[in-house]
Amino acid sequence: MTTSQAGRVYINTRECNGCGGCAALCPEIFIFHEDLEIAEVIRPEGGPVECIREAMIFCPRKCIYWEDTV
Ligand code: SF4
Repeated sequence: MTTSQAGRVYINTRECNGCGGCAALCPEIFIFHEDLEIAEVIRPEGGPVECIREAMIFCPRKCIYWEDTV
């Protein structure tokens, strides 16, 4: 089951290697800009916990952060 949680999701774009994995795994939250070869958070307020965690675990640069704002 997918659950949502409040928080702030962001990427340290200086560390991002442009693999695009986060956007492939969790398109509700991340988008990959092919031209810039960089990922961006399109829904920083968060969303489906499982897919955000999956993207964070996958991220080869460990540059996705999710701050709890509650
Ligand atoms: S998974 Fe990590 S390194 Fe890959 S595009 Fe996303 S933020 Fe960048």
